[in-house]
Amino acid sequence: MSLSFDPKSVALPSGHFIGGEYIGGAGAITVHAPSDGRLLADIPLADVEVVDRAVESAKKALVASGWATQRPRERLKALYAWADLIEKEAEALARIEAVSSSRLVKEALSGDVMIAAEQIRFFAEFADKECDDLVPTADNQFGFIASEPYGVVGAITAWNVPVALAGWKLAPALAAGNAVVLKPSEMTPFSTLYLAELAVRAGIPAGLINIVLGNGPQTGAAIVAHPQIAKISFTGSTRAGVAIMENAARNGIKPVTLELGGKSPQVVFADADLDLAAGCITRTILGNAGQGCVAGSRVLAERSIAEELTVRIARLMEDIRPGPTWDEATTFSPIISETQLSRIDGIVQAARQGGADIVCGGGRIEREGSFYQPTIITGVNETSPAVAEEIFGPVLTVQSFDDESQATEMAKHATYGLSSGLFTRDLSRAMRMIRKLEAGTVWVNRYGRTRDHILPTGGWKASGLGKDLGREAYHANRRTKSVLIDY
Ligand code: NAD
Repeated sequence: MSLSFDPKSVALPSGHFIGGEYIGGAGAITVHAPSDGRLLADIPLADVEVVDRAVESAKKALVASGWATQRPRERLKALYAWADLIEKEAEALARIEAVSSSRLVKEALSGDVMIAAEQIRFFAEFADKECDDLVPTADNQFGFIASEPYGVVGAITAWNVPVALAGWKLAPALAAGNAVVLKPSEMTPFSTLYLAELAVRAGIPAGLINIVLGNGPQTGAAIVAHPQIAKISFTGSTRAGVAIMENAARNGIKPVTLELGGKSPQVVFADADLDLAAGCITRTILGNAGQGCVAGSRVLAERSIAEELTVRIARLMEDIRPGPTWDEATTFSPIISETQLSRIDGIVQAARQGGADIVCGGGRIEREGSFYQPTIITGVNETSPAVAEEIFGPVLTVQSFDDESQATEMAKHATYGLSSGLFTRDLSRAMRMIRKLEAGTVWVNRYGRTRDHILPTGGWKASGLGKDLGREAYHANRRTKSVLIDY
């Protein structure tokens, strides 16, 4: 059966989702489809009062449902029911995602939506298995470290993989016994709303998940500053991460988990399997049109194979079919907005004017919607904006190195440390380099996440603080209390 669909046939959820109900409001932000620029909706903007209403709803639901105090296995069962319903409704959810975001319908269906369901089950398993710690004490004492949920957790997400990011935030927070107030990106709010609606339909108590719509400076900032929100989990740019950390420090010194930007290297040695390396590099920079935090956009190639590798990647880049996200035949995503497309093009044109070589691409694709050509830039160094800045588009730079120590130095980025790729057949070299790379994730002879959700993800340096996924994400949603009893 074809996955293609008519975008006009998809009903988009609208309004904030608070206490299990959609709540309208005056349209304040227009949302457009990146595939063809059509106006999709005017969504409301939650001010301090609306955020407060969402927090009150979360607090009430926690008390009324006993979510945190019931037998933990009950949380597991409720979360499993939600994951089951997501799988049943996967096609509807994937369509909602594809209409308003850059995600292709087939990727949303087989990837993001299924991953969200898997992650909900993955974190549900922690609910009745993670234990408090007993500590050694004198015989007339009893000491333990109790772990407790925060209460209401605030979450804010980016637009690039909306439903998957919502899953990353909601699943560990709920499994750990919290309620959540989440603000999705104002550019792609619809799939997160539907995900929350499915939770209520599956039996998760209404009010445990509240979705508020709006922008960063007003709605996002109101979530971070709210006195009853005890912890913040954020995915987005480093710029916004800085503002959130400052805001959280001024309003209660609340803990923050920050998943931020990157400029990740892919280091290719002459002994590597070049087909494998070229394939991995091309897939990661063309996937979602390079709009991925871990996109390995800085290729570092040993000098003797740099040209050959560049030619192979450029050849693979020719094989794209740009088109609407709702067409199953499309293989190449649009850029999320015209503003973002202009930013990408600005960096590419600045590189061109600065004397860099544009090996392929270097401009927008002339067709309906916001599409940018797969682009390779050479003749740049670490001071060029194309190398220094996160571009978040289908743009690669290729630089050469002469030996392992130079490769290690070049792989370090002045600002970011999200992930690194390494291609070599020399195991000893790989082991040496793994220890030296400054990144929260290192992939060797592959690039990109698998569905092994036990591997945490998160950045070093300005790429972030704390982890999503893995045990860490569950524990980041609980706080500990040291207890000592004399008897
Ligand atoms: P963005 O920072 O502009 O926006 C992200 C979210 O933060 C949005 O919901 C926005 O409304 C909100 N926001 C913006 N300013 C805020 C403020 N001052 N206070 C509170 N909320 C605020 O990022 P984006 O353009 O949506 O997403 C792209 C960025 O996200 C890239 O830098 C990318 O690398 C990063 N990202 C990181 C990861 C990761 O796991 N490290 C994953 C996906 C995306």
